[in-house]
Amino acid sequence: MGVKVAKFGGSSVADAIQLAKVKSIIEADPARKYIVVSAPGKRFDGDSKITDLLYLCNTHLEHNVPCDQIFQVIVDRYMAMAISLGVNLDLEKEFVEIREKLEAGEGPDYIASRGEYLNAKLTAAYLGLDFVDAAGLVQFNEKGKFLDEETDKALSEELKKHDGAVIPGFYGTMPNGKIKTFTRGGSDITGSLVAKAVDAVIYENWTDVHGFLQADPRIVKNPHPIGTISYAELRELSYMGASVLHENAIYPVRGKNIPINIRNTNDPDHPGTMIVSSAKPEDDGRVITGIAGSKDFTVIGLHKNLMSTEVGYIKRLLGILEGYNITVEHLPSGIDSVSVVISKKQLKNNLGELLDEIERKLSPDSLEVSHDIALIATVGTGMANRCGTAARLFTALAEANVNIRMIDQGSSEMNIIVGVENRDFETAIRAIYDAFVTETDK
Ligand code: ASP
Repeated sequence: MGVKVAKFGGSSVADAIQLAKVKSIIEADPARKYIVVSAPGKRFDGDSKITDLLYLCNTHLEHNVPCDQIFQVIVDRYMAMAISLGVNLDLEKEFVEIREKLEAGEGPDYIASRGEYLNAKLTAAYLGLDFVDAAGLVQFNEKGKFLDEETDKALSEELKKHDGAVIPGFYGTMPNGKIKTFTRGGSDITGSLVAKAVDAVIYENWTDVHGFLQADPRIVKNPHPIGTISYAELRELSYMGASVLHENAIYPVRGKNIPINIRNTNDPDHPGTMIVSSAKPEDDGRVITGIAGSKDFTVIGLHKNLMSTEVGYIKRLLGILEGYNITVEHLPSGIDSVSVVISKKQLKNNLGELLDEIERKLSPDSLEVSHDIALIATVGTGMANRCGTAARLFTALAEANVNIRMIDQGSSEMNIIVGVENRDFETAIRAIYDAFVTETDK
């Protein structure tokens, strides 16, 4: 029998009621042996996530403001969970140690990681499984770069010794023993690393939604759920803002073709979304798998006569951006023109300086900047080799009166990205959805 890894996100472990659901999910399938948990998340709208409270504590102390009240809220939440679940665990001792390290300035990564650490201890005791700390197993180098091979080896050697275990998500350690966290939502990555290390037959990612939807439900009313999606499609959609799973959670399992199944802890019978190496769109006749996007990009457009004959022109442009540590999202180009699409966040306050440098070093005939651009990706392997997809998309946008500022199509023909004004973002997504999904339904 193959082994399954089940990762439970913050809302799935937010309180004792949720943990009871986790227990019945684990008990329903003996193959679910390795469990990865997030820190307790929000129990209701307006509630706080433990991780946010922990960061807040650290910020208080960095500014020499006492954090006793916030810390007590955290202590109370774990205590209440332990009591309700009837778990016998010396949490007091843990909190004394955390408090000491916090006062000693152990830093934000350490303090944030304690949400997962305590929750994994609690969950392990409740489920009667071993607690296996991620510290020392999930590894980063001294600069904080994640070490893939070392982690895989350490995790698989350790987990072989346990018939079942609960592992805290989100963090690991650097060579000096200091805790290092992934970016927010990083427990998804830990789950994927564990699935890879134990050669799982499936990586189940339990959350509070039924999986991926074809569009953001805040923009499109009742969008269709996505039953099956490929890793590559998901990567495109996550990058562009669809946020059910951490975008880096795909890589560890992808190499081993381990499917990821997004499931809903509050509705465990629902099959959720299956993420696999290649989804077969022909099975359900869909042309597009999903639409996602985000706002607030800046486009810098350069025109220079005979640019195409000048060796290294674009390289020099990219070199200038590298000097500002700016990554380029897209680089649409014409014969004698090129545009760089950059997220506004990346530009910080450097735009003026950056433009001066471009003028000086590249002497373009014209240099134009467009602000407040939104990018929308229409993604689907079903689009490849199919005539008329682009026409349908552009017709839909034209009919919705949306002006397209930029077009980019990946060579795999799996996506078409359009740039529109921020203010047209929602209208454009609805128009594309209607053209491809609603129309197909009719
Ligand atoms: N607890 C962390 C966060 O809130 C990591 C996670 O839940 O995946 O970002």
